[in-house]
Parts: sequence; structure tokens; C-alpha cells
Amino acid sequence: MNETINEFNKYVMQTYGRYDIVLETGENDNAASENDKTYIDFGSGIGTNSLGYCNSAWVDAVTAQVKKLQHTSNYYYTAVQGEFAKKLCKISGYKKVFFGNSGAEANECAIKIARKYSFDKYGIVDHNADDCGKYRAEIITLTQSFHGRTITTLSATGQEDFHNYFFPFTPGFVHCEPNIRAFENALSKKTCAVMLEFIQGEGGVNNLSEDFVKAVFDICRERDILIIADEVQTGVGRTGKFLAAAHYGVKPDIVSLAKGIAGGLPIGACLVGERCENVLGKGDHGSTFGGNPVCAAGGNAVLDTLNAPGFLDEVTKKGDYFREKLLKMPAVESVSGIGLMIGIKFKGDIKAADISKKCHENGLLVLTAKDKLRFLPPLNIGFDEIDMGLGILAEILQN
Ligand SMILES: *Cc1c(COP(=O)(O)O)cnc(C)c1O
Repeated sequence: MNETINEFNKYVMQTYGRYDIVLETGENDNAASENDKTYIDFGSGIGTNSLGYCNSAWVDAVTAQVKKLQHTSNYYYTAVQGEFAKKLCKISGYKKVFFGNSGAEANECAIKIARKYSFDKYGIVDHNADDCGKYRAEIITLTQSFHGRTITTLSATGQEDFHNYFFPFTPGFVHCEPNIRAFENALSKKTCAVMLEFIQGEGGVNNLSEDFVKAVFDICRERDILIIADEVQTGVGRTGKFLAAAHYGVKPDIVSLAKGIAGGLPIGACLVGERCENVLGKGDHGSTFGGNPVCAAGGNAVLDTLNAPGFLDEVTKKGDYFREKLLKMPAVESVSGIGLMIGIKFKGDIKAADISKKCHENGLLVLTAKDKLRFLPPLNIGFDEIDMGLGILAEILQN
């Protein structure tokens, strides 16, 4: 076994099922390992390297910032964080943003906003209940959802296998199947918010149905229940729109973003519209590294690229191109997701995990999600790289 891997495993906790590949460098759509083997990356990290590896505009922005100022506490202002916030609000149509460092943190912020919104507006709604039960603080999430790894976001995550070992979990989350009857049953006078992914990423690249989403929005509007969209994976152009909400013609109250937002640097954002823009005040929330200037500079480079005329239409075009070619492969049963968020279901007893392993051996980095193979390629991936990567997959499927 490889020396780097041996040493690594001696000192790093064994929390991931890793492939035996040590990545060392990357350029655009390709990564290279220690022994100079190159890989086309259809996972872009994990939807994080939205402009691929070491995109030149992104490298310039990040290096210029790191030479000027790498960090300052949030007791001071930086122009670069302000600029990133303004760009995010302009491109998304939201009013204000809070910066954390990850998807889970963006969701934690969203949960805090939702609960405080109801606390401020409704106070105690059940005088007979004990402690926390007095408040309008319940949040409905969906089975097969994934919202993060902190205790609270694990609690929000609707997949039962995540609810082990780490008891007690944060109370106040109700999970329901993504259908209207189940949703109506999950509602109570204590519901303050619903949190959903329009396309469930980790849960298997499952698109929510338009009817379900429309009905949830109608019911929530009627009852002043907030809607939190977890767009950590679907957001920032992944589906060919800045937010996946646009495909459903809806506007959630709160949106969480992370993964691809800064081209591979750690930053998460919680966006709020009119209803929630003043819910959090001084001292209500914070993060030492949140909105770090180097990460914000990377984020500005990503948003400038996404804002270029025609960029998001290209994402859609490439997504269509992937689908057309995938559906021609005899072993492929169906393709889910939207744009460059792609879930592939195989026919018969072909296992996504086996195919993924073979892809890695043959120079193609891919992801899986439940029983599907999953692609989250760089948003600016080239058609040649798409052809090459799909060529590798096609050959594996033929054998
Ligand atoms: C990845 C992901 C998260 C968690 O993000 P971290 O940055 O790992 O905390 C939350 N929600 C969704 C939908 C995700 O895909």
C-alpha cells in the first residue's frame, strides 16, 4: 500500500470510505495523482470546485486577496465581504446574507432565523406544554433529505440511518414523505417552517414534484409558515438557474448555500428575503471565520463568471448533452436531476458503487448517491471532457 496513504490513515480519523487515490494537482476539468495519473473530474470535488481546478480568474482573485489581508474579525468591515454579499443578493433577488463556513452552518443559521421569527411574532402558543413545547418551533423536513452533520442538522436530516449514536438529538424536527397528505399530517399549530431540497442530493438525486412544491408553498403562505430551501447542492448555477427554486417558479423565505459558492473555498451563506431580513440582530448569531476575505474573493470570482452573458444557458445545454448521451447507453435506465446535477439509475443488478470504483480505476472521478451514480461536474466543463468522461463510462458499462 502507498506510503502517503499509510501515514495518512495512521493520524486521520477513519470517518470516510476513501478511494486509494492521492490527488496532488489539478487544472480545469482534470486532477492528477501523486504518480501523475490524470483523472477527469465529474464530481468537481463534491460540487465545490464549480469552476474546476485552479481556474485562472479564481486563482488571481484569491491570491491577490491573500497577499492583502487573509482574515480579520467580524468586528471590522472588509470591502470584499460586502462586495460578495451585494453580488449574492443581486443575482439571487434576496435582501440580506449571513456568512458561515459550510452547508451545515448555513442551515443552522436558517433554523435559528425560522425559530426566532415565530418566537418574536407568536411567543408562547401552548401554555400547557413543558419547556420548549410552549413555542411555535417545529420544522418539517422530508424523508431522504440531507441537511448536514452537526447535531441539529442531523436531526433535521430525514434519513433514519443518520439518527444513531449521538443522542440526544435536537428536538423540534418532524419528518414526512414528499407527498401532500403526509405533509398535511405533519403540520401542527407549532410548525414554524418547512425545510426542503428541490432536488435531494445525498438522498439519491430525487427531484421533488412540482405539484408537491406548489401545494407546500400555498399551505405555508396561508399559515405564515416559513420555507427554507436548502440549496447547498442545487444552488449557485448547478441546475442552470442561480437557484433551483426558479425551476419551480417559487421564492422561498430563506435559502442556504455552500458547496460551489466560492469555487472550492469554505464559505456558506444564508440568504433571507423581506420577511426575515431583520429577524437576527446584534449578538444573535456569529462565526469567527464566516465571510473570510479570501473565501469571499473566491466567491466574487465565481459570481462574476456566472453573471457573464449566456453562462447559465451553457450549463443547461451541457446538462441536456449529458442526458442525451447517457440515455443512449443501454445499461442506463433513467437520469434524474436538472442541469449539471445528474443522477444515473442503472438497469438490472448493476451497482452504482461498482461502476464508481471502475470509473476511478479508469481515470474518471464520479460520485454516488444511494443507488445512483452522481455527476456534479464543473459548471464550465468542456464538451471534449464530457465526451471523454462519458466514453470511459460507456466502455465500463459494455464490459
Ligand atoms: C453537502 C450538503 C450539506 C452539508 O454541507 P457541509 O458543507 O458539508 O456542512 C447540507 N445540505 C445539502 C443539501 C448538502 O448537499
